[in-house]
Amino acid sequence: MAAVENRTRSEWQELDRDHYLHPFTDHKDLGKKKSRIITRADGVYIYDADGNKILDGMSGLWCVNTGYGRDELVTAIEKQLRELPYYNSFFQCAHPPSIELSRMLVEVTQPQFNRVFFTGSGSESIDTIIRMVRQYWQLLGQPNRQTIIARVNAYHGSTVGGASLGGMKPMHGQGGTPLAGIEHIAQPYWFGSDRKLSPEEFGLQTARELDKKIRQLGAGKVAAFVAEPIQGAGGVIIPPDSYWPEIQKICDEHGILLVTDEVICGFGRLGSWFGADHFKVKPDLMTFAKGVTSGYLPLGGVMVGDRVGDVLIDKGGEFFHGYTYSGHPACCAAAIATLHILKREKLVERVRDDIGPYLQKKWHGLAEHPLVGETRMVGLIGALELVKNKDPVTKFGSDRGVGTICRDFLVNNGLVMRAVGDTIVVAPPFVLTHAEADELIEKAWKCLDLTMAAIKK
Ligand SMILES: *Cc1c(COP(=O)(O)O)cnc(C)c1O
Repeated sequence: MAAVENRTRSEWQELDRDHYLHPFTDHKDLGKKKSRIITRADGVYIYDADGNKILDGMSGLWCVNTGYGRDELVTAIEKQLRELPYYNSFFQCAHPPSIELSRMLVEVTQPQFNRVFFTGSGSESIDTIIRMVRQYWQLLGQPNRQTIIARVNAYHGSTVGGASLGGMKPMHGQGGTPLAGIEHIAQPYWFGSDRKLSPEEFGLQTARELDKKIRQLGAGKVAAFVAEPIQGAGGVIIPPDSYWPEIQKICDEHGILLVTDEVICGFGRLGSWFGADHFKVKPDLMTFAKGVTSGYLPLGGVMVGDRVGDVLIDKGGEFFHGYTYSGHPACCAAAIATLHILKREKLVERVRDDIGPYLQKKWHGLAEHPLVGETRMVGLIGALELVKNKDPVTKFGSDRGVGTICRDFLVNNGLVMRAVGDTIVVAPPFVLTHAEADELIEKAWKCLDLTMAAIKK
């Protein structure tokens, strides 16, 4: 028997409006517009209830990296569900999928990573980080080292901890966030600056804000710096090359822990296994989620480097933290199967050497369009900046919603990309073919034209 009833599109929309509270959604607004009901997917395409075929340029929500319709993932999950659908890892228990996945994660991460703590999501991983870094300094007899530094406009999830560490202003206005002991410094967003410095100079200057902040707080107060290698939800902010090496230097100088939030960048998105590998930094801890299972089931975790892991284990006693679904067997099976696919099909290398460069070249071609002020892309994650005027760069007023207008044209023309203000972001599955990349670019260009015509009116 099918678990879900067969209903028409409008039936789904009505039931949705009446009963389903969506994440990050204005429901009064949604009630007027109605949801787009997505019913199935295959490869890089999703299909809505009207049968429209839409190229998914966002890999779901930055997660379906190996594409839809992977029988291998479904089979691995089903097999695990039949054998052992659930058991916990509390009370000195474990099961083969969580142990095997731990081993495999250690293998694809930098040498300092020999241990992993599983969670159910990116947000839970960030909450784990907050507790773990503070506990680390506590155990080392430096209980005043509790402040965590993150960045403006960072996205680290939506639990109380995640929303606090994230740097999105509207989120801080709701629900009593941010937590105490969290500080935010500027993001390395060159296009968003006055562009008077070269990107390299700007990258250094922005990195040095970390040094300033540490000195202002006192190094003895700072536990860690946490950052996405490339800020994703904030608008795919790709830092200048000078940025990350300087950040590493500053963390080393002050002895503070460096944490990369790899929830989007991890597992090949940048054409390297992790964002830290791409930018050649050596984090003490890394969070992951999303792409680890290709989004087929929820799983997250924290890679724990030896610097922290050794202290937690040698001096820590019990770490009073964990989740019912930490290391869920079916989710671990999905992750194991995803890792097998990434390796066997050499998808990380494909993003680095083949489809990445192919799409990047075409993407940069969009800079020719009169509406586009900047294009940027690393691996298979990119953005374009919509501007009123290119030279000198003049932005639209934030109230015009040009990004949203463009996004709506895109989806109505069969391509999902996301608008972050007037920045259009893209992160397609790693299995995107050259022909599908051509289709993506063609549709993007067409919708830029449509957007331009619409705002002239
Ligand atoms: C999505 C995201 C999170 C939150 O992950 P959830 O699984 O939605 O809790 C955290 N950090 C980054 C960088 C993300 O992109």
